[in-house]
Amino acid sequence: MCGIVGYIGAQDAAPILLEGLGRLEYRGYDSAGVAVVTKSGLKIRKSQGRVADLVAGLPARFKGAPGIGHTRWATHGEPTEENAHPHTDAAGRIAVVHNGIIENADELRAKLMADGVEFRSQTDTEVVPHLIAAAFAAGAPDLEQAVCQALRQVVGAYGIAVLDADHPDRIVVARNGSPVLLGIGEREMFVASDAAALVGYTRQVVYLDDGELATITTGGYRTFTLDDRSTAKSPATIDWDIIGAEIGDHSHFLQKEIAEQPRTIERTLRGRLDERFSTAHLGGLNLSVREAREFRRVKILGCGSACYAGDLGAQLIEDLARMPATSESASEFRYRNPVVEPDTLYIAVSQSGETVDTLAAVQELQRKGGRVIGIVNVVGSTIARQCDGGIYLHAGAEMSVAATKSFTSTVTAFALLALHLGRMRDLSPTNGKRIVDGLKALPAKITEILELDDEIAKIARDLAPHASMLFIGRRRGQPVAREGAQKLKEISYIHAEAYASAELKHGPLALVSPDMPTVAVVPDDDLFDKNTSTLAEIKARRGPVVAVAHRELPVELADRTIVVPKSEDELDPILMSVPLQILAYHAAVALDRDVDKPRNLAKSVTVE
Ligand code: GLU
Repeated sequence: MCGIVGYIGAQDAAPILLEGLGRLEYRGYDSAGVAVVTKSGLKIRKSQGRVADLVAGLPARFKGAPGIGHTRWATHGEPTEENAHPHTDAAGRIAVVHNGIIENADELRAKLMADGVEFRSQTDTEVVPHLIAAAFAAGAPDLEQAVCQALRQVVGAYGIAVLDADHPDRIVVARNGSPVLLGIGEREMFVASDAAALVGYTRQVVYLDDGELATITTGGYRTFTLDDRSTAKSPATIDWDIIGAEIGDHSHFLQKEIAEQPRTIERTLRGRLDERFSTAHLGGLNLSVREAREFRRVKILGCGSACYAGDLGAQLIEDLARMPATSESASEFRYRNPVVEPDTLYIAVSQSGETVDTLAAVQELQRKGGRVIGIVNVVGSTIARQCDGGIYLHAGAEMSVAATKSFTSTVTAFALLALHLGRMRDLSPTNGKRIVDGLKALPAKITEILELDDEIAKIARDLAPHASMLFIGRRRGQPVAREGAQKLKEISYIHAEAYASAELKHGPLALVSPDMPTVAVVPDDDLFDKNTSTLAEIKARRGPVVAVAHRELPVELADRTIVVPKSEDELDPILMSVPLQILAYHAAVALDRDVDKPRNLAKSVTVE
């Protein structure tokens, strides 16, 4: 699921590969490696840990081109140096880097071993170079054909790049379920699994589709299929988002991305609010008014934070458009043979646009004739291209593994969509205007919340020693609580569980004690009294309470209140999730965690 970079041209490959891998670090990984072609064959260096460790161990004369590099997120075998990519054939002539999972690796490995091949790693990937070598041994005339023959035996998801010391004029790449793109330079070419790796080198890229391969040479590229039919591709131009890629004077990307939210929400809204008709314009939906009115239901799919943002999206759509709407985890949806209805609008949510479960859900829906739109941050990503239309977040690159600005921008995008669908139906102009005004006021209100940083940091430091916490909320507060708990566990490793407040009495209240703090989302709305009764129940059992509310709560209800500005009821969740991000951030810092690259996690989950 991690990073691939490749280079062919007149320059030495290693510095370009290492810079590219550095730019992919944000995705999370556990080991790294590079291979270059030299006059005396392949040279390979690998290292457990960070790209910086790889750089430190690189000999001064690690020269040559073409080259390929990889950051690995282990799925098969531990994150050791032996298991790091590139992997080679027995002769050390073919080098392969791979993102994804080869599902029939055990079977292929057994077959190869029966033919006398000795394996040097536990990875699924290592079968690939051996299969390519076997294809050459069986008479494959060139690298392309050898790679095709090898891949025809492979079942699973992959993005791969292949170097062959005997064909130093080319790199062959292939994609099936894991992204690969080509970068076009001046008498040089690049490959990468994520356009971020190519920042500063080229803006011209070609995205491969599933089932496609490509050969790159210094002079250009050729794309083809596994049965060697040429395909026609046209290059796309990347509009680099300057906001996002550099850390500036922040200590962590996460801190920077939290702080960016007034600007990122503004960008999600930009050009989309129509004050005259109190509605939203969403040009990329590709839905006529007539089509949009024919939908009777909405189903939202995403994973992790995208799914929680989807829960809020569903409530916004029910509230404003009065259409029944539900959200479900894409990873569950794809495997339960879902009933796909023609009058349901399906919405896939993914920051990266590469989340494998969400992509599979989109493909399953489309196979059954469902209409799917995407809410995606990364322009040109697989889900964005696969969907029938959609809304880009325009939140800029999100480098930290934990979602923050993409979460608030996704909910903002849902508010726009709900407004758009609502104003085609029964949402009155007055209510539409209320939402338009509310959306416009969000950035300034987030700026006010960011000023609470010191106060929230202090609360976080007090909470950090606890082993476990509860997060509760009701109705719109519930997804806010779920996302708050998710943030805390992801980056601080403190165990946190989220519950609907009313569910507390049905089980988790048994956990409440002076050692188990509760973080409660308590908006000033019609359910305020219900929420405060829950807090009284917790306090009666001596459970510490931190509330996020619109007014200071008495100490009988909450030990600490983080008071945030009020918006419209429907939009409050966007504001109320920000203090919980800040809380998780400071808890993680207090515990000295690797905030931007939490253990075991990766930014875009492109393997199951
Ligand atoms: N499945 C491969 C491995 O475990 C590749 C993992 C990745 O995508 O980084 O080595």
